[in-house]
Amino acid sequence: MILQSTTNEPSEAEPARAEPGPTGQIDGVDLQSLAQQVQTPFYAYSATAIRQRIAELQAALHGLDALVCFAVKANSNIAVLRLMHECGVGADIVSAGELRRSLHAGIPAARIVFSGVGKREEEIAEALAAGVSRFNVESRDELEMLQRLAHAQQLTAHAAVRINPDVDARTHAKISTGRAQNKFGVSVVEARSWFADATMFPNVRLDGLHVHIGSQILGLDPFKRALGRVARFWRELELQGHEIDSIDVGGGLGVRYRSRDKPVATRDYVDVIRDAFAGFPGRIVLEPGRWLVAEAGVLLTRVIRVKPGSRREFLVVDAAMNDLLRPSLYDAWHDIVPVSAMPGPVAAYDIVGPVCETGDTFALARDLPVCAAGDLLTINGAGAYGASMASNYNSRPLVAEVLLDNGRYAIVRRRQTFDDMIAGEQFPEDWRSA
Ligand SMILES: *Cc1c(COP(=O)(O)O)cnc(C)c1O
Repeated sequence: MILQSTTNEPSEAEPARAEPGPTGQIDGVDLQSLAQQVQTPFYAYSATAIRQRIAELQAALHGLDALVCFAVKANSNIAVLRLMHECGVGADIVSAGELRRSLHAGIPAARIVFSGVGKREEEIAEALAAGVSRFNVESRDELEMLQRLAHAQQLTAHAAVRINPDVDARTHAKISTGRAQNKFGVSVVEARSWFADATMFPNVRLDGLHVHIGSQILGLDPFKRALGRVARFWRELELQGHEIDSIDVGGGLGVRYRSRDKPVATRDYVDVIRDAFAGFPGRIVLEPGRWLVAEAGVLLTRVIRVKPGSRREFLVVDAAMNDLLRPSLYDAWHDIVPVSAMPGPVAAYDIVGPVCETGDTFALARDLPVCAAGDLLTINGAGAYGASMASNYNSRPLVAEVLLDNGRYAIVRRRQTFDDMIAGEQFPEDWRSA
């Protein structure tokens, strides 16, 4: 269901999406009046859309022993994490900060998995002490560190080897993680040697396999090839008598940023998992990030002014690359929609933010109904890798985040104040020698 009032009813198969319809509402909340109460720019997430996505995935997983662990880096707001927890979703974390956020939101450590190529000693120790269920280990050095720290705390850590299957995810190079030349995971040859040496790691139960080949993947083939490789390795380990309790298939499921994007159907994706691991008696872990939240969120922004340009007019809006980095970082497309557009003439605009970088561009030559200063726009598909990637560049305060739920809204992050922004900075009054 699309959370908007449209004349053409969406098909049943469409996953939930939040974007303003002709009534200018998302999840029953009027965006014009919301924007009067919350200063633009700000993010708005539809709780209903997120719940529906989770329910759709859970339904597709029916009958499997599966645990969905939301990739916290996609949207780390504690209210979003609380919502995940209320729906039975755990967390896939990549830092101690994400561990603390997840625990703070109520997600039990038993439903947290720790991924990442650069886990530091103190982060591993903290996660062990918290009782994190599983470490996705990416190098022998990390495995040795995990052994040492688990031994020091007199406990046994559960670990999975992150396999680099050398598969092309056919996505943007900057979000591709499963090629041999990428920093992530280890080869099957390397992983084999870890299992052969398992007795050298008595405080680590190496009983899992993990793979994550990239993000915004729009075809089933890369998943089939990656999971096929992992499944072959699992069968080999079984034959050798190594017990595998958990297979983590990572995230990466793509979403529809523009009408030509054709995401794979959830059921088809889960069928690839079912096929690859038919007969596997353990637990399947999934780490979706983007798919659960991207299309549930928008960034609201107002036109500051319309500026003439040599090729076409610029729409200078109050959101910028520091608020939503994806267009600058990945040349990513986001649909941009005026909230209360009247039928009328259309113009092509370059939509830019106020930051002093040419890369601070949300869209080039984008057709929109003719706009004027003060007009409210939504930048759609902004629920993932939006607020979580934001910075203070150009000394712009971090924007507010608002959760919408069936006609109501709650501010789940207030706009940063100037004092918040400079907290921690100080004049050099306390000079020391080192
Ligand atoms: C980023 C990441 C994910 C989530 O990826 P999405 O494309 O957002 O689903 C899952 N697992 C790992 C290890 C990641 O690094």
